[in-house]
This record gives sequence, structure tokens and C-alpha cells, in this order.
Amino acid sequence: MLNLHSKLPNTGTSIFSVMTALANEHGAINLSQGFPDFDCDQALKSLVTKYMRKGLNQYAPMSGVRELRQVIATKMQKSYGMELDPDAEITITAGATEALFSAITALVRPDDEVILIEPAYDSYRPAVEVNGGIAVTYELKAPDYKVDWKLLERLISWRTRLIVVNTPHNPTGKVFRQADWQQLQKIAEDRDILVLSDEAYEHLTFDGLAHQSMLRFPEVYTRGLAVFSFGKTIHATGWKMGCCIAPPQLTREFRKVHQYNVFSVNTPMQYALADFFADEENYIHLPAFFQEKRDFFLRQMEGVPLKPLKSEGTYFQLFDYSALSDMPDLEFAKWLTTEVGVAAIPTSAFYASGRDEKVVRFCFAKQEQTLKKAAEKLIKLGDL
Ligand code: PMP
Ligand code: GLN
Repeated sequence: MLNLHSKLPNTGTSIFSVMTALANEHGAINLSQGFPDFDCDQALKSLVTKYMRKGLNQYAPMSGVRELRQVIATKMQKSYGMELDPDAEITITAGATEALFSAITALVRPDDEVILIEPAYDSYRPAVEVNGGIAVTYELKAPDYKVDWKLLERLISWRTRLIVVNTPHNPTGKVFRQADWQQLQKIAEDRDILVLSDEAYEHLTFDGLAHQSMLRFPEVYTRGLAVFSFGKTIHATGWKMGCCIAPPQLTREFRKVHQYNVFSVNTPMQYALADFFADEENYIHLPAFFQEKRDFFLRQMEGVPLKPLKSEGTYFQLFDYSALSDMPDLEFAKWLTTEVGVAAIPTSAFYASGRDEKVVRFCFAKQEQTLKKAAEKLIKLGDL
């Protein structure tokens, strides 16, 4: 036997891979892993084809194609009022995952502590730990999953280097208010810590709520990096495109890792996205588009004995199943998949402690017929 001494002894296969594989194996409707079951815009595909045909198939610049960085600077200015230097502050990445990993690797030194707010997206913790950092957890509780910044501040020590936040939040669908950023700003300044803001779902906020990007808070931004995922914006999660926005000093550190992590990202896709994002018609309707899906799904789910929790953003909807079953949530999600025919994600997978709130997550980035069929299966839970 090889004596490997794994760098990540406690890390298993991501819950998203596990549940999608189970859904496929059992032919279940897959509302587990977050991805649309409809295609991206034909015009976007035509643009990629155009640039491929044009021969733009070699390495992009390490920081990204200039045209795309310029368009993103304009888009961020319009959306959040922040003036950005596309050369010094914007880096195109292989999705938000690569941006998060490169940022954490660039900043976290051995024995540095990093505050994670759980339930948390599953890539943060392994990125911290593989770099020798120590993840310090602040747990949010159902049903409101609200951050109490005073309690969170108690977790900060002289070793704390970074705090990772995520708004709109996966899996709870909660979104930050201005007051959250104001309190975080005070903590970060007082305790001299850095902030990594995962804004993968920047365009997916509902009921008139505005996305509170870190870029609206210049004082936080001076010590922060914001990460975005284009996959959610263009309905093409498989393209693995995104960006990292940070002030020049932090961007320089970020790029030291990014250049040896992937060097650069798909060239023709970057040219295509530069054209696509130049027209705001291609993204300003996203909140209404996904809000309609959320509301459609909730209407279909009326009469299903699962209790919806409020989703303010993202394309996820949580349901409390405690009135129906006392199974642990992983077991319940697997049972739903294999016996009822609808796959979900157990929220305990987002807690290192495995905290079981008897809450599962469904993805509603699906065609109406898919959501309708799923609800028709789930309605049978009432007969149990
Ligand atoms: N952060 C969050 C909160 C996510 O849900 C996801 C996955 N969609 C990512 C980051 C990763 O995004 P990408 O697919 O662009 O790597
Ligand atoms: N972000 C997606 C989700 O939460 C999945 C991403 C992945 O499969 N790694 O479902």
C-alpha cells in the first residue's frame, strides 16, 4: 500500500456529482446539481463559432481578452457604480471555481485562519485546507439563515486572514442587505482582514431586491476580491467562464497563481462574451426570468407536504421536510431520488459538521414541463 498522507483526508466526491450520478442511474428528474435544462442563446453560440472560424483559437492573454475585460468594466460600472481598470483589476477565469481557488491559494498561508459562513459552497474549505490554512466555521441556522455579525466577529483571532462571503447565497437563496456589508466592512477594517466575495449568482435576485455586490462598497473593495460566474448569466455552466475583480495590488497576487493554475481561458468564448455582454438586453431580464420560474415551481408544489423557505435569489429553492419524515437529509434526498423520482441536494452537505436541518434544495433553472413533472411526482408524498 502506498503511504500517501493525503493533503485532503476528509474530502470526498462532491455532493453534486454524487446526486447527479444517482439521478441518472435511476432515471430521476434531476433538480439536484445546479444547471439549466434549457440551452443557451443561439446568438451566443453563433458568436463563438464566428470567432473560431476567424481563427482565434490560440492562447488568450493570461489576464483575459482585452475586449472582454473592457466590456466587464463597463458592465460593472453600470451595475454597481465602480470604476475599474480592465488591465489592473479584472482577470478572466475558468469559472468562479478557479477564481476562488486561485484567490485562496494566493492569499492563504499555512496556519492562517479563514472564516467560512456555512452552509457554504463546497469548494471553499478544500481550497483553504490544501494550502495549509485553517477553516473556522460560522454556522447559519434554518429557517432564516441570517448572519449575526457580532457573533461572527467572536471567531476572529490574530491568525484570521480572510473571510469568505457569498451573495446571493447557495444553497439558502438569501441575499445580503446593505447593512450586512456595512457591518462586515467595520469588522474587516478593525481586524485588518481580507474579504473574498462569491457573487456567482449576481443577476439572480427576486422581488425587486438589488444585488449588493462588494463593488458597491469601495472601502471593502480596497481589501477584497469579488468572483463572478458567467455560466449562470448565459445559461451555459459547462463553459466554465468567470472573472475575478480586485484592486491592483490584490490582482497582482491573484495572477501569480492564476497564471500557473490555468494560464488563460478559452479564446473564442471570450471574444463571443465581449460582444454578448456589450448588449445589456442579454442579462437585464434574468431576475424576472428566474423569478417566474421560482413562482411557477412554488405554484406547482402547492399541496406537496414540504414547506418552502423563502428564496430571495439564486436558482435554488429550499424545502423543509420535517413534517413528513425524520430521515437524515442525505438519506431523504437519496430516497426522493430512487423512490419518488426527483433528485435534490441535502443541505447538510454544505456544513462541515453535517448539521441536519431536515432541509433539501431543489434547482428551478428548468423548463416549466420539467418542474411540472417533478411536482407531479412529489405530490404523491401526500399519500404516504
Ligand atoms: N460559487 C457558488 C456559490 C456556486 O454555486 C458555484 C457553482 N455554480 C460556483 C461558485 C462555481 O461556479 P463555476 O461553475 O463558474 O465555476
Ligand atoms: N454550483 C452548482 C450547485 O450548487 C454545482 C457546481 C458543481 O457541480 N460543482 O449545484
